[in-house]
Amino acid sequence: MAAVDPVQQARRQAYLLVLPVAAIVSAITATFGVLTGRGTLGGAVAGFAAAAALLGFTYVVAARRIPLVRAERALVAFVVLGMAASVVVVAVTTGSSGRLVELIRQAAWLPPIFAFVYLAFGARNGAWIATGLWAVTGAAAAVHLLPTHAHPAEEVVLLVEFLLVDGVILLLFAGIARVLRASERVASDMEHEATTDALTQVANRRQGERRLEEEVERAERYARPMAVVLFDVDLFKRVNDVLGHAAGDRVLRRLPALLEGDVRDSDLLIRWGGEEFLILTPELTLEDASRLAERLRVAIAGHDFGVGAPLTASFGVAALRPAESAADVVRRADQAMYAAKRAGRNAVFRSTGSDGEAIVEPVGSGDPTKSGDGWPAARSLAADGAAPILPDES
Ligand code: GH3
Ligand code: MG
Ligand code: MG
Repeated sequence: MAAVDPVQQARRQAYLLVLPVAAIVSAITATFGVLTGRGTLGGAVAGFAAAAALLGFTYVVAARRIPLVRAERALVAFVVLGMAASVVVVAVTTGSSGRLVELIRQAAWLPPIFAFVYLAFGARNGAWIATGLWAVTGAAAAVHLLPTHAHPAEEVVLLVEFLLVDGVILLLFAGIARVLRASERVASDMEHEATTDALTQVANRRQGERRLEEEVERAERYARPMAVVLFDVDLFKRVNDVLGHAAGDRVLRRLPALLEGDVRDSDLLIRWGGEEFLILTPELTLEDASRLAERLRVAIAGHDFGVGAPLTASFGVAALRPAESAADVVRRADQAMYAAKRAGRNAVFRSTGSDGEAIVEPVGSGDPTKSGDGWPAARSLAADGAAPILPDES
């Protein structure tokens, strides 16, 4: 059902390339050690075991049975623990006798492992895990290097150099991770700005239209119900005229918080225009959405917005019909909303007409001039004589 995430896809492809290559490299180096008689037996066994494990993980990633993140973390945890264990074994068993080759080899593998760790565990945990692994390797090296046992000088130099370079790479990864995080933040800020209404912080019209199209398509594909609730604050112009534009803005800013309790996480509240909002309600039938609208109407009428008089809103509800377009269902909600305005405002109307007919009916009490909680009706704002009720738009 979920669309393919391009980032996930890219990660998966990266693993499908890197894992088999790493397996082959591991097997080749182990074989090389055995053939030349220069590697230790333990090293060869570890190399082949690692190759087999990497191929196993390649299969797991390719088979897609478990989420990529889980496979990723299991793989990296396996590699890191295996690596740490192997470093400790090398430190203990090879002891003071001579050769440092095995440790140098381990140190050579650290940078790609750091990269995996960062990929799988993210910047913060990745930094801890990678640094921990580096420290364990450094400690194992110290076990060899601190006592004054004779080691071939070039091996000592090589091991120290490898460990220092690993340290530099660790810092480099930490730096790159910071840069990536910062650019992710910039991208998500830009996304937020492009999709959010600056005044009310709810979805803007553009984002709303996109989500509406998606939900309509989804509802039709899976034959699921879906409804929209459109509402417009009544006589809002008077708030601006009497109390100023800033007071009007404050009212609009307060609205989303007021509705929050009734609007589910799966719904989307959209600022559709000026003081007009659309709520996208997937999975709701006309009945459910009408009840929701009535609850919201009562909540708004019962709220003290601090404008000296009750504020109300008029609601129009429409449920998606088979093969109907997003624009059409909103148009029907709009017709219903204007019916609520015509009926005296502070009311919920819903669209019931079949194909193209503009048939609407009131929801709830059927007496739109009375708000649900005994509050004065919307007309009271206009009734003080300062301004007449606006003429109907249609
Ligand atoms: P009705 O009940 O018929 O909807 O009456 P109304 O006064 O609400 O309708 P009208 O469409 O005439 O007025 C809407 C007003 O909303 C006009 C406009 O100045 C105001 N408005 C639109 N957007 C904003 C905004 O972002 N902030 C403020 N303060 N006012 C806004
Ligand atoms: Mg209005
Ligand atoms: Mg309006």
